[in-house]
Amino acid sequence: MTEKFYPANARARDPSVAGGGAPAAKTRGNGSHVVVIGAGIAGLTAAYRLQQAGMRVTVLEAAGMVGGRMGDRRSGEIVFNSGARLIYPFGRVFNRLIADLALGDALIPLRNLSARCVTPRGDHLIELMPTARSLMTPGLPMGERLALIAHGVRMRLQRGRVDPDWAVSALDVDPEADRLTLADYIRGEIGPHALASLVDPVFRATRSFNAETLSSLFYRTTVPHLVGEDTVHTLRGGMGFVCQTLAGQLDVRTGARVASVEHRREAGVLRVAVTLADGGMLAADHVVCAVEGSLAGALIRTPQTAEREMLAQVRYNALGVVHYGFAQPLPALMQFASRDIASRISTFQQMPAAPASGRPLTQLYCQLTPEAVEEVRRRGCTDDIDTLLRDELRARIPDFDRHVVAVVNQWIPRKLPVFAPGYGERLRAFWHWQEDPARASERPVVYCGDWTSQALLTGACASGERAARIVLDRAQIQAKRTDS
Ligand SMILES: Cc1cc2nc3c(=O)[nH]c(=O)nc-3n(C[C@H](O)[C@H](O)[C@H](O)COP(=O)(O)OP(=O)(O)OC[C@H]3O[C@@H](n4cnc5c(N)ncnc54)[C@H](O)[C@@H]3O)c2cc1C
Repeated sequence: MTEKFYPANARARDPSVAGGGAPAAKTRGNGSHVVVIGAGIAGLTAAYRLQQAGMRVTVLEAAGMVGGRMGDRRSGEIVFNSGARLIYPFGRVFNRLIADLALGDALIPLRNLSARCVTPRGDHLIELMPTARSLMTPGLPMGERLALIAHGVRMRLQRGRVDPDWAVSALDVDPEADRLTLADYIRGEIGPHALASLVDPVFRATRSFNAETLSSLFYRTTVPHLVGEDTVHTLRGGMGFVCQTLAGQLDVRTGARVASVEHRREAGVLRVAVTLADGGMLAADHVVCAVEGSLAGALIRTPQTAEREMLAQVRYNALGVVHYGFAQPLPALMQFASRDIASRISTFQQMPAAPASGRPLTQLYCQLTPEAVEEVRRRGCTDDIDTLLRDELRARIPDFDRHVVAVVNQWIPRKLPVFAPGYGERLRAFWHWQEDPARASERPVVYCGDWTSQALLTGACASGERAARIVLDRAQIQAKRTDS
């Protein structure tokens, strides 16, 4: 294999751009070369903060475009997201990034988002951000209504104690939070009816998880910041806009799949060799690995015990979505399904055509239930999910086949990291390991991404900034050692 050493940072721009509130003072970086693997929001945030601090940064991205699970796709006349659709307002690090990039005007507020929850007993309204109206949910016994009020107050009071960017921050309030499943937690806190009519449909429709799969960490760190709020955001220019803006200020190489990362001593100096799938190689002083956690393990040649054990734990759920382009106008509609209704679709959305916003056709968004995802896997029909949904859609919409003019099957093998019970405790220990100053001289790879923080784009962004801080701390420790 021939080794190509690419010139580092060939296209990098002035690292002093923006900066208000950036955690890394420009003087802290000592000109070291950092390779960031993965150009999702986590990797790009890390790269941006490191470059601001004076480091030379190269970002390597396997795909042909940046953004990862925060991007936009188009197939013919159908537009859709590669992942995230909403920006929750509570991400402090993400909000600071938006301010630094002067992108505040690109945030489009969406107020009072709600869905009709379809159950065998009739429909009811579900709000994404719980309010007093949640008390009107039909079928809730009086005891659960009272428990819901008390729960809402308790959640609101915990706002200052939990950080929505860090799922493990719930452990500071309740060390048991990581051991309880979300289902057990809600049953104990409020009751089984609230679980079935409120929490479970939302988690299945927005997260594609059943409540017994997850620990209570995500719920207990985000809900305190949602109670009493009414606004989420989307982005003018598409969900990938922030990532594209970041990439425009960095040296990012797309189509550059990393095959391995290896520590080497060259003339007595420790360097990290990053080898690409095409045989190219970069030498770096530090490496930030911002790829999906379940892929990271295969890249690291000689992992230390802590990283090998952590990476072996990372799992994702999968997701299937079918997007239809429809020739007939349909009214806007958002439906979630309760678990006891016979449907393979957990989220059903009708979006009227909006040519001025780049959506020329009426679109239907059909997201599979967790059970239907398993069925697709079993049948091996990830490219043809549509066939599983047709009968149900024909029953919903008259003359369905006649009006469908385009279909896109979207299979996402890694949708969200699974914070199963016990995962949070491991994760907390892993960050201690990453941040231990004793690691400065060994310079193991620093990991970030939603699997290290919170299964949201805001969490991924926060983890990128934290990874940058670790690299800067290590560089500073090394510089001090060299000086003394
Ligand atoms: C369908 C869906 C809906 C979602 N909805 C929301 C939402 O509404 N709101 C919200 O906040 N969050 C949502 N999320 C979660 C959010 O999208 C993610 O948490 C976030 O985007 C993850 O960012 P990341 O940088 O950690 O990872 P990624 O975006 O996955 O970035 C990892 C990058 O690494 C690259 N990579 C992988 N292997 C290699 C390699 N060997 N070499 C080089 N590059 C490599 C990948 O191509 C990718 O670009 C959703 C996710 C999905 C999938």
